[in-house]
Amino acid sequence: MSEKGTPDKTELVKLKSAGDLRNTMDAYFSRLKEAAETRKRKIAWCTSVGPAELLYSMGFEVYFPENHGAMLGAGKNADKYIPTAVAHGYSPDICSYLTSDIGAFLQNETPLQKSGFASVPKPDILVFNTNQCREVEDWFNFYARHFNVPVVGIHTPLSITELTPEIVKSVEDQYHRIIPELGKVADRKFDMDRFREAVGLSHDGCVLWKEVLQKAKNIPSPINFFDSAIHMGPIVVMRGTQHAIDYYKILLKELEERVETNISAVPKEKFRIYWEGMPLWYKLSSMAKLFAKLDTCIVASTYCNSWVFDDLDPADPFGSSALAYSKLFIVRSDTVKEQVLQQLFEDFSVQGIIYHESKTCTRNSNNLFGMQHRLNKQTGIPYLEINGDLNDPRCFSEEQSIIAIETFVDQLAGRT
Ligand code: SF4
Repeated sequence: MSEKGTPDKTELVKLKSAGDLRNTMDAYFSRLKEAAETRKRKIAWCTSVGPAELLYSMGFEVYFPENHGAMLGAGKNADKYIPTAVAHGYSPDICSYLTSDIGAFLQNETPLQKSGFASVPKPDILVFNTNQCREVEDWFNFYARHFNVPVVGIHTPLSITELTPEIVKSVEDQYHRIIPELGKVADRKFDMDRFREAVGLSHDGCVLWKEVLQKAKNIPSPINFFDSAIHMGPIVVMRGTQHAIDYYKILLKELEERVETNISAVPKEKFRIYWEGMPLWYKLSSMAKLFAKLDTCIVASTYCNSWVFDDLDPADPFGSSALAYSKLFIVRSDTVKEQVLQQLFEDFSVQGIIYHESKTCTRNSNNLFGMQHRLNKQTGIPYLEINGDLNDPRCFSEEQSIIAIETFVDQLAGRT
C-alpha cells in the first residue's frame, strides 16, 4: 500500500477467495493422498481435457500430471528436472510439462512432498485423450510401463473445421470402448446414473467458470489472466464434482461484489489485452506486476477459456462428452480458431493481443502459421509476439520481453 492507503500501481488487488481456493485444492490433494496411502480407492491419471467425468463417476480419485507439471513450472523448478528427462531420451524440444514431470519423477522429487506425499500418487490406470496433443499419449505410456498398469485412450482427430456427426460418433464410440478396462480396474460396474450426475456437475462447474471469466468483460475488469491461471485449478482437476461448483460460487460472488464496488484487478486499468498461448508459469507473478505497472489488464486468454465445456448434457452424457471434448479450441482448425478469437476480442473490448510462442508447445502457439497477420488484417487490433515457454525458463529472455511489452503498451497509448 502507498502511504495514503491506496494501492500502488504495481500492487495487484488480491482476491479474497484465494483462501477458499487453497482449502479446495488442499482437500483435493488430501483425498488423493489418502487414496495413495490406503489404496482404498483406485487412482486414475487423466489428461487435463480427458474424460474426468467418466473417471469420477466410476469412483476413482483423479490425478492430473499436467497440473503437476504446472506446479513444477510455477515453483521455478522445471529446469532442474528437464535435463534428467533429456538424458533418458526425451527431447528438450517436446512439451516441458512432460519433460519436467518425468525428470522430477526420475529424481524422486515432487512439490507434493511438501504436503506429505511420499511421491506422486501411484496410478491404477492412466487415461488420455489426444484432443490436445500427441505428447500426452507418450507421457502416459512412460508411466504405464514404469508402473506396469493399463493405459487407455481416446484418439481425437486434430485441426477440425467441421465438427461432423461422424467425428463426434467416433469419439463417443471410444468412450464406450474404454469402459470395460476402467470397470476391471475400478472393480465396479459402469453406472449410467452416476455418469449422468458427473456430467451434470461438470456442466454446472464449467458454466460457473465461464461466468467467472466473463466478469472480465466489465470495464474495468475485476479479474485478470494471472488470477484466472491460478483460480482455474478446481475446474481442471475437480470438474465433474460438487467441489468445483462450490468454489466457483464463492469466486463469482466476490467478482460480482467487485463489479458493484468498482474494484479492478489492475488498480488503474487503461488498456485491455488478450493473451494467446500458454502462461509463463515461472514468471506469473512478475508478469502480473509488470502489466499492473503499465495500467494494463490481460482480460481474456485462450488458455483459461479452454475449460468451458458447457455442451455437456446429462441427458446425453456420452454424446455430449464427445461433442464438448472435440469442440474445444485446441482441437480446431485455424479457420475456426480465428472466428472464436474474433468474437472474444469483441466481447472483451480487446485493444491489443500478445501471442506467446511457447517453444515446447506448438499446439498452444497459434502464431506459427500466419494467424496473427490474418487476425490483424481482419480486426485491425495490434499484436506483439513474445518467445518463451510454459515451463522452461531457459527459453525466455525476460529483459527483451519486458522492453517489447513496454513498447507495445506505449504504442497502444499512442492510439488512444
Ligand atoms: S498441449 Fe502443449 S503443454 Fe499441454 S500437454 Fe500437450 S504439448 Fe504439453
